[in-house]
Amino acid sequence: MRDTRGPMADADSARTAAGPDADDLIVLGPDGLYCPAGDFHIDPWRPVARAVITHAHADHARTGHGAYLATAVSEGVLRVRLGGGITLQGLAYGQAVEIDGVRVSLHPAGHVLGSAQVRVEHRGRVWVVSGDYFVSGVDGDINTTCAPFEPVRCHCFITESTFGLPIYRWRAQRAVQDEINAWWRSNAEAGRASLLLGYSFGKAQRLLAGLDPSIGPIVAHGAVEPLNAAYRAAGVVLPPTQRLDEVPRAALARAIALAPPAVQGSAWARRLGEASDAFASGWMQLRGARRRQGVDRGFVLSDHADWPGLQRAIAATGAERVIVTHGYEAVMVRWLAERGLRAGSFATAYGDDAAEAAREVAAAATGDDVVQAAR
Ligand SMILES: [Zn+2]
Ligand SMILES: [Zn+2]
Repeated sequence: MRDTRGPMADADSARTAAGPDADDLIVLGPDGLYCPAGDFHIDPWRPVARAVITHAHADHARTGHGAYLATAVSEGVLRVRLGGGITLQGLAYGQAVEIDGVRVSLHPAGHVLGSAQVRVEHRGRVWVVSGDYFVSGVDGDINTTCAPFEPVRCHCFITESTFGLPIYRWRAQRAVQDEINAWWRSNAEAGRASLLLGYSFGKAQRLLAGLDPSIGPIVAHGAVEPLNAAYRAAGVVLPPTQRLDEVPRAALARAIALAPPAVQGSAWARRLGEASDAFASGWMQLRGARRRQGVDRGFVLSDHADWPGLQRAIAATGAERVIVTHGYEAVMVRWLAERGLRAGSFATAYGDDAAEAAREVAAAATGDDVVQAAR
């Protein structure tokens, strides 16, 4: 339960391992990652005056900040999730702004629509905060629903490590997408619907992009469709989707429905009739995960870097110092230190699953065509 640890315990471990210097560009403050020279935060977990946001997942983008700086392409999804009233400045990838003499720019992270790494430069020093990113050990495998990850050279790289264990090695995405289509096709031929569960922002659109619409109708849950619309508005091409009540009952047996995990077992799911269900997540690589989730199938598909991808991304930065945030921090820190890098960790409040899952329950319950979603 890494999310529940207080920041102070981690500050201590950072002092001994990474050993903060007095002039560190980014430090761990009580409200989140903080740049003292520019007096702004990055993905803070408590309300602050100025927040630079890497991406719109719930644990990174929170409500209540005075001013937001994020990629222009993420504006749609940020407003879907945080409300239209936020004060938001949008930047193009690579465009730089000065904040109190600190140069800040945003660079593609390949995680979800609009996701960015934050490059911070001050007096010749460059630090990069990765946010969440997708880099696979499979050559050339990129997330096609957003701008792919671009390595940024820096002195210090603050990296996520969600899947920072050697057991996590993604297969080529095409192979997983083929597997999903084959499962859907066999369900359709057997006369039952397919319920494909995945987080509604990012994962659902990536699943959707890989579906073969010639098999049958594609239904999007009310929690998923506003995000599909934001992706389409940003120019991402996705197969057509329908609401559950738009699909004739007789056609449901050939349909696939995309919905957040909280919809499993709900009245909405029961309206599909006889259905096979599946969950798509990097966690499905863990033995027993599919059974614990209580689904018929598990598909290993993640929007995060796998173990070789993390190593590849870190090496590409040329950083001599690496600070690990959420994930298997200790394993990654040890691996980096063994390779002669100065490595430490920050205990952050990030960790997509808990926050996203909680948000999904709320989103599912208020989804426009949800009768009753809570399990
Ligand atoms: Zn994320
Ligand atoms: Zn995250």
